[in-house]
Amino acid sequence: MKIPLKVICVEDSEGDSLLLLKELERGGYAVTSRRVETSEALQAALDAEAWDVVLIDYNMPLFSGLEALALLKRSGLDIPFILVSGSIGEELAVQAMHAGAHDYIMKDHLARLAPAIDRELKEVRERRARRHAQEMINRLAWYDPVTGLPNRILLHKRVREALGNALPVALLLIDLDRFKEINDTLGHSHGDSLLKQVGRRLDEVVGKGGTLAHLGGDEFAVLLPEAGRKDAEALAARLHRTCAEPFPVSGLSLDVSFSIGIALAPEHGVEAELLLRKADVAMYAAKDGHTDTSVYQAEGDTHTQQRLTLLTELRQALSLENGDSQLLLHYQPKVGLAQSRLVGVESLVRWRHPRQGLLSPMDFVPLAERTSLIRMLTAWVLRHSLAQSRFWRRARVPLKVAVNLSARDLDEERLPEQVASLLREFDIPPESLELELTESALMKNPQASEKVLDALDGLGVALSIDDFGTGYSSLAYLKRLPVDSIKIDQSFVKGMARDQDAALIVRSTVNLGHDLGLTVVAEGVEDRETLDFLKSMGCDVAQGYFLSCPLDADDLGRWRAKHAPGATP
Ligand code: C2E
Ligand code: MG
Ligand code: MG
Repeated sequence: MKIPLKVICVEDSEGDSLLLLKELERGGYAVTSRRVETSEALQAALDAEAWDVVLIDYNMPLFSGLEALALLKRSGLDIPFILVSGSIGEELAVQAMHAGAHDYIMKDHLARLAPAIDRELKEVRERRARRHAQEMINRLAWYDPVTGLPNRILLHKRVREALGNALPVALLLIDLDRFKEINDTLGHSHGDSLLKQVGRRLDEVVGKGGTLAHLGGDEFAVLLPEAGRKDAEALAARLHRTCAEPFPVSGLSLDVSFSIGIALAPEHGVEAELLLRKADVAMYAAKDGHTDTSVYQAEGDTHTQQRLTLLTELRQALSLENGDSQLLLHYQPKVGLAQSRLVGVESLVRWRHPRQGLLSPMDFVPLAERTSLIRMLTAWVLRHSLAQSRFWRRARVPLKVAVNLSARDLDEERLPEQVASLLREFDIPPESLELELTESALMKNPQASEKVLDALDGLGVALSIDDFGTGYSSLAYLKRLPVDSIKIDQSFVKGMARDQDAALIVRSTVNLGHDLGLTVVAEGVEDRETLDFLKSMGCDVAQGYFLSCPLDADDLGRWRAKHAPGATP
């Protein structure tokens, strides 16, 4: 079996060329060939198809061997080219090898030709395999497997390079709206298909002038070198436009919208990491302001550098899976005073920060509340609280779990829907979930709150007003709300044993609550005196360090065992 071989002969003599080909046939090759004698003809042949080898006669009238070598080298093609010459001195041979020739053969030693080609072809194959492996490695390290676009690492590298080359540089961060929902409802493979399509459309708009990267999840980014604010905004507008048409996924046509945050160098910084973070802040500002694009604004950014970092880290922490999770929940017992019995627990979030240790919610919840990140946090807490609740139910300990909501959660019209779907997922009866809302959160947007609260109430979950007494809600307004209980703020409870005014406030709140048919809870109970006082006032439920601090799930189990059936110490 002869091995097929495609050869270009750069040769002015037809006879010499035939001689070479004959030699190759003898060496076991089935040759297809083309003879060329000018640089244009050589170029045309290279452009037209793929070749295995190029044989070059050194001495030609129209086209010198060295010129041919230079042309081949410029072409960047990995094809062995072998010089064939009647008379080539050592010096010329060396020169030819420098010019890129792989080997040279004397016309009177043509028997060497076939073995030389065997060897060169083997080397080409090895080089190709190595290149292929290297490409695979690069692909895995630098490209996103779902969309095939550059990943975060490659983007970082390109941003650094761009910043080192020529300013200005613009960075756009794109975050799809509601992608998680699509992913959850349609499944990951359809989610991936959507990401691929979105990536393709965005990439067409970005074109060669920039780098579109897929940072993972539903985040994309564009690096625009040598671009200022105008260019970045114009591109953002085009990106939004290109996704105005719905995307076909699994027989549906899905509308995709996203927010874009823009950071500019040198205006906002000249470090890759910093620019990315500022684009992130701008993106959140866009989401919060319900605008589709926003440019980073230092004035609007009350975040110090540290806070920016913390926000980015919280975002990452929220995306970590169960085993690696840095967030955790503690549960604080709520004790019914009439029977001294555990009536439920309040879920309180903590963050085991990799450098700063265990952070209290006060260190990061208010920060998260300034951005839409709070919604992700709430979703995390709800999911994990309900998972824990299911665990307790299976262990025959049906505990009511209370989760704190923030003002921004009430702007989310889909919250009731999300709660309902989580209850279904974990098979928890709605009355076993309580949602705590602070008075001030309710007052931020009373109309919207009322709507969401009505919907939540419709599901059958219990609603409670937290930190009661610290806000200025009117009684008339409170009466309209479908709440089940109020939690008297700890500032009143802590002082009531010593301070008559505080005691008066607590007493009248208990009475007011009962008049409205509500359960009254006192939080911040730190000593027995206060506990007894509350009991005598007819307060229904108490919570506080005197009864128990917030505990992790295991410690809560031990606490229960120790205090059952009468829970008051
Ligand atoms: P909160 O909802 O009013 O929760 C009660 C807070 O008081 C908890 O602080 C609890 O540990 C603390 N506490 C309980 N008993 C006593 C006591 O006897 N004395 C004193 N001095 N403090 C007591 P924590 O866990 O630091 O949470 C602080 C606040 O952070 C919570 O106030 C709540 O508004 C917010 N928070 C906690 N977890 C979450 C969450 O998952 N989501 C949201 N949106 N907010 C949360
Ligand atoms: Mg609370
Ligand atoms: Mg409270």
